[in-house]
Amino acid sequence: MKQVTILGATGSIGQSTLDIISRHRDRYAVYALTANSNVDKMQRLCRQFEPGFVVMSDAARAEELSRVIADLPTEVLAGEAALAEVAAADQADIVVAAIVGAAGLMPTLSAVRSGKRVLLANKESLVMAGALFMDEVRQHGAELLPVDSEHNAIFQCLPPGGVGREAFESGVQRIILTGSGGPFRDIDINELDNVTPEQACAHPNWDMGPKISVDSATMMNKGLEMIEACWLFAVDEANIEIVLHRQSIVHSMVSYLDGSVIAQLGNPDMRTPIANALSWPERIDSGVEPLNLLQVSQLDFTLADEARYPCLSLAREAWHRGGTCMAVLNAVNEIAVEQFLQRSIRFMDIPKLIENVLRRSSTGPADQLDTVLQADADARELALDLVNAGDV
Ligand code: NAD
Ligand code: MG
Repeated sequence: MKQVTILGATGSIGQSTLDIISRHRDRYAVYALTANSNVDKMQRLCRQFEPGFVVMSDAARAEELSRVIADLPTEVLAGEAALAEVAAADQADIVVAAIVGAAGLMPTLSAVRSGKRVLLANKESLVMAGALFMDEVRQHGAELLPVDSEHNAIFQCLPPGGVGREAFESGVQRIILTGSGGPFRDIDINELDNVTPEQACAHPNWDMGPKISVDSATMMNKGLEMIEACWLFAVDEANIEIVLHRQSIVHSMVSYLDGSVIAQLGNPDMRTPIANALSWPERIDSGVEPLNLLQVSQLDFTLADEARYPCLSLAREAWHRGGTCMAVLNAVNEIAVEQFLQRSIRFMDIPKLIENVLRRSSTGPADQLDTVLQADADARELALDLVNAGDV
């Protein structure tokens, strides 16, 4: 029986993970669940899964939850320290890192430092602090398994244990990262400034939280994923090709020297990569419908137009500048997405704001956590100042 902690249990990835666990109650038990503030949802999850611990980041919400689940044995905790504690607890075997954004960094690192199997959905933590994050993984012998569908696909297509130079020595030529292009892939480029948050969050193929939905619409998601792949698989941006694939059936590919291209296919449902990482190297039923190729019938691949998706080149620029620049990229993107969702800036202001903050930020080494967190805080402050001054 494996004990699982889910950081960000009330979100889209959290829910998909719990759906898999509910199908395998003989294999997985829930040790702890965490959420920011959604008491109603957490109450339902506690009644269904009876975790030993729950952490609500918001203290008032934690108190409220304690009252409504007073009849359960679950212990309710609050705040960041408690988050780190349940992520590192000896009793947990597997930690699912599914908090959205930089808020996921510290609890995810805490799971890594306790040497657990860590299922990484929270790509932002790896993007902002990649070098030191991967150092911690090696130092503490954590088993880092990617849940992001593309990275899970690449993980399945690479030779066993093959990352970095070793992968290339075993004949890997490049990684092909696929992306759907989001909900605005076909609209007139001049109309992009008039799109609404509701339209941005209506992804054609995937059902996800609001932040990653907007990231998919700008394709910053693919930019973040390019950086995520560089850290996870120890490769350079030059070894990664980004391809638009509107059906979201091929989740990514690895191309080999002999001309072979190995792809992972499946219906666009996050339960597949989550189940793969939960049970790896075994395979378990995820509840996902088998892929019906005749129904899919066609797979299209095209180039991503960088004029439509300026975030792609901004992410490349951040990777090449290196160091704290990736924390800056991630932080200003989080602010830009939040401001767009609140209707304070327009859709195409997102890349403008990112570019503006990147230009004004210096790059330093990102080998200390403090430096990374400072770069993150400075970038957020500058981004908000620019928005408030109407100077996006
Ligand atoms: P979501 O918005 O649906 O859920 C986010 C979760 O994080 C919630 O449980 C929320 O309570 C918690 N949370 C939010 N802010 C917090 C804070 N400040 N402190 C503590 N907890 C906080 O997001 P999601 O779509 O499930 O995405 C989660 C992560 O997984 C993101 O990093 C995203 O990029 C990644 N991811 C998601 C998908 C997907 O299909 N949804 C696919 C690949 C990767
Ligand atoms: Mg993805």
